[in-house]
Amino acid sequence: MRAIVVTPETEVPHVREIARPEPAPGEALVRVLRVGIDGTDHEVIAGGHGGYPDGESHLVLGHEAIGVVEDPNGTDLDAGQLVVPTVRRPVQGGPTTYFERGEPDMAPEGHYVERGIAGEHGFMTEYVTSPAEFLVPVPPAFAETGFLIEPISNVEKALELARASRSAFEWAPESAMVLGNGSLGLLSVGLLDAAGFDRLYCLGRRDRPDPTIDVVERLGATYVDSREHSLREIPDVHEPMDLVIEATGHAPHAFETIDLLAPNGVGALLGIPGDDSVMLDGGRLHREFVLSNKALVGSVNSSVPHFRAALDTLAAFPDWLSEAVITDAFAPEAVESAFESDEGRIKSAIEFDTL
Ligand code: NDP
Ligand code: ZN
Repeated sequence: MRAIVVTPETEVPHVREIARPEPAPGEALVRVLRVGIDGTDHEVIAGGHGGYPDGESHLVLGHEAIGVVEDPNGTDLDAGQLVVPTVRRPVQGGPTTYFERGEPDMAPEGHYVERGIAGEHGFMTEYVTSPAEFLVPVPPAFAETGFLIEPISNVEKALELARASRSAFEWAPESAMVLGNGSLGLLSVGLLDAAGFDRLYCLGRRDRPDPTIDVVERLGATYVDSREHSLREIPDVHEPMDLVIEATGHAPHAFETIDLLAPNGVGALLGIPGDDSVMLDGGRLHREFVLSNKALVGSVNSSVPHFRAALDTLAAFPDWLSEAVITDAFAPEAVESAFESDEGRIKSAIEFDTL
């Protein structure tokens, strides 16, 4: 069967024939429909993030998938059921405490591998196997869009951690800003819109016309150009933000978020930068952080409850949103085009099959 792989020699995603997997006891066999591509895939391909499975000279890419159960193999799943797989799995023979608690997303490095990212093959292939506990059932209506559940689930988790950090007092956030208008940023704007934020902003650095700015504005959010105003100026030009979700991977933004927040506000950081030295007035930021009861939380990955919340969010999106975000679906053979960047493109997927 066809799989999209990278190897250390090429670092260019390409199609390779691999053997169809056999489900082990407790695992189901899933026929893959679509697999999304995001910034993390590009970082994996460039070698900046993740790594190959032990002893393997290739990595099957893909961590955002939707598929259909081909063989439940004695698990509780039904044949024909649509499912979205989670990403983390325990290291073979390694510690499993976080998995037993249902919190693999909180596990420290060394306790997990990530399918399609770090140490384990991903979902960009015709069939995959997975323990049933890592397959989240979704209704048939999401056959084309369900792969968005994985990235949305990452934002659900970030929002959960942000809310938890404000749970000691009465926190009623009204204004929110998403930093970044990549696919994760746009899905974050969609999530906050669905969560009822009316005063919603999205920060980018692009000229109009741009399809991502169209999505931001169609959602009723305000597009703010970071080339016109620094994050420190935004509270005066617009308003201070009760909640900030950072989805750029631009390290200065993580710390500048402190200036952007309203008193008692919280910033959830999702971006994964490379090493980057940043010049900041640490004293002023530290003071502001403490004297205004602000919080910053970092958040990575997500667990099954976040996938379920993400399904609800996806279902609450306005009809046009998923279609506007998924600008392209490519056959596996068109893999080269699928990974190219293109001005009109927001998010592309590889389509292995349809329902
Ligand atoms: P994209 O690359 O699609 O989007 C990145 C966004 O950040 C774009 O809007 C980009 O602007 C903007 N940006 C990048 N560099 C700068 C900069 N120097 N100044 C201002 N803006 C900048 O990535 P994704 O949307 O897929 O993901 C966003 C980030 O989140 C990535 O770092 C990714 O690794 C991380 N991530 C984290 C997850 C987690 O669980 N924590 C899960 C998934 C992703 P432009 O396009 O105009 O260059
Ligand atoms: Zn991702």
